[in-house]
Amino acid sequence: MATLEIKDLHVSVTTEEGEKEILKGVDLTVKTGEVHAIMGPNGSGKSTLAYSIAGHPKYNITSGTVTLDGVDILSMSVDERARAGLFLAMQYPVEVPGVSVANFLRTAKTAIDGEAPKLRTWVKDVNAALERVTLDKDFAQRSVNEGFSGGEKKRHEIAQLELLNPKFAVLDETDSGLDIDALRVVSDGVNRYSDQGDRGVLLITHYTRILRYIKPDFVHVFVAGRVADQGGPELADELEANGYDKYVKAAASEA
Ligand code: ADP
Ligand code: MG
Ligand code: MG
Repeated sequence: MATLEIKDLHVSVTTEEGEKEILKGVDLTVKTGEVHAIMGPNGSGKSTLAYSIAGHPKYNITSGTVTLDGVDILSMSVDERARAGLFLAMQYPVEVPGVSVANFLRTAKTAIDGEAPKLRTWVKDVNAALERVTLDKDFAQRSVNEGFSGGEKKRHEIAQLELLNPKFAVLDETDSGLDIDALRVVSDGVNRYSDQGDRGVLLITHYTRILRYIKPDFVHVFVAGRVADQGGPELADELEANGYDKYVKAAASEA
């Protein structure tokens, strides 16, 4: 079992008006074998949390820690984080013109394993991964994210997740912009990944919709840059019924 632990994390960004604190003391522990959903309104800092774990240079960690089995990951490069077992699927994956999906995936796999995957089995693995997310074989020859539809981007993310098979997956708004068929394909992929056991999922969303297909063990309500409440899957049902209102009001009266 492995543990990803976030302790009293404070993160700010540099804006024209100066430093703006976005994360205001996040505490969260994810163990392998667990699926955690982070739910919260727009602008509450969910993506900032994902980017901070990923090591995006825009986000300044002002205090707090993020560790994987006790080892500090905040001092690691993005590549080192991937090698340590973290996978971050971003809300708006970047375009990598001129780099094919096949090469992109092979480079990522090589960076994580420290050696290139054997070509013969790799091509088979890639084709199988694409097929599982109902992407055509030809998809492997396209430039990464260039002209991809929203659904194709998410399917590609899931193919990547299954091929790289990290210890922990941080999935930000994996459900946004998906039609019902794509939502099912993507959810099935996340479930296959987590059902292997010994894998941890941090699923970030502001809709409860995806939680019909991916059953979280824990739900965290994220408001105004911190975890405002946590519970089991029943908390998602309560949010579906009542929204974030009471949490937003409580956070506003505290500020
Ligand atoms: P969420 O993902 O929950 O919608 P975000 O983490 O994207 O929230 O944003 C939280 C807040 O931080 C928002 O007010 C957003 O405008 C602000 N923010 C995020 N990134 C930046 C940035 N790079 N520069 C300035 N403000 C930012
Ligand atoms: Mg489980
Ligand atoms: Mg976001």
